[in-house]
Amino acid sequence: MKIKNFFRTFLLLYIAAMLFLSSCGGNTPSVTTASSATTQTTSTTSTTAQITPPKPKKQVAITFDDGPHNLWTVAIADELAKYGFHATFFVVGNRIGGGERVYNGSSTAVYLYQKGHEIGIHGYTHLENYKTCPDADYEYEMSETVKAIKTYCSGYEAKLMRPIGGSISQERIEASPYSIITWNVDSLDYKYKANETESEKTENVNTIVENVMSKVKEGDIILMHDIYENTYEAVKIILERLDAEGYEVVTVTELLGEPQPGTKYSHK
Ligand SMILES: [Zn+2]
Repeated sequence: MKIKNFFRTFLLLYIAAMLFLSSCGGNTPSVTTASSATTQTTSTTSTTAQITPPKPKKQVAITFDDGPHNLWTVAIADELAKYGFHATFFVVGNRIGGGERVYNGSSTAVYLYQKGHEIGIHGYTHLENYKTCPDADYEYEMSETVKAIKTYCSGYEAKLMRPIGGSISQERIEASPYSIITWNVDSLDYKYKANETESEKTENVNTIVENVMSKVKEGDIILMHDIYENTYEAVKIILERLDAEGYEVVTVTELLGEPQPGTKYSHK
């Protein structure tokens, strides 16, 4: 019995000694290493975060022609607001006034102005070609649109002009008190505005999206029209993808810096 007790006591002491060694001796250095490694990783991460400036966003400008439209212009402006983006709207004078067309755009123009978007001149009737029309008609298109913008947008002074169809003579570009803004990425949304069925609508919207996303790069000026439902549906997807790809949508003036009057720009 005594011998049995002796072995039991010896065995217990042996196990206790092993446990003590393994917790204090054997593992101590590795615990220290793990702990210091964690500390190092943490300090490296925080040092990196401090010295690396945030990656600048790639800027693009989306321009919308032919509005304002009481439904789609507002919906597009609200979509832009979700990302803190601003766009440029080249408006049609008689649509702001809501006169000859049923666009009822006066309150919409005010809305754009209040939301900080850039407003440019497109034309008053949207009927003239600025390369070929008589001087008197060209002057009327400019002055009446300027007047409509000023009237509804608290004296806002437009500095940019988008010719109808992008067409304007070199002589008129050089004589213009405005910067002439064309584009280098065309969404072709006007070609895909009508849908026969829901699936055709999806197809059309996707085509508009791809027309933009397959070409877009930093510094581009994109052409769209804020008067179609399909454009609005495409804008929702385009903004989400641009944001995810590190783009920021800014006004044309923000993109170009201070664009010069009498000069034509199609991109940065
Ligand atoms: Zn137009």
